[in-house]
Amino acid sequence: MPSYTCSTCGKEFNCHVSLQNHVKVHDNAIVDRALQKIFEEVEQAYEQLEEKEELKEELSYDKQLEEEKEFSYEKQLKEER
Ligand SMILES: [Zn+2]
Repeated sequence: MPSYTCSTCGKEFNCHVSLQNHVKVHDNAIVDRALQKIFEEVEQAYEQLEEKEELKEELSYDKQLEEEKEFSYEKQLKEER
């Protein structure tokens, strides 16, 4: 009688279909773990993105202030002439 051995856990089955059905259990576990990892990474990336967005807002605010300063300086120069 041929036996089919699961390459993941070593369990033996006497028909190919049984092994195929059994292997899905491992596949699901692997997929679950992979998905869990992806979710965690996405969450982390999202948190980092939020931090970056905050930083960007701060930077653009500073830039705006500088541009306003430059503008008023130019205006002053024009008025002096
Ligand atoms: Zn197995």
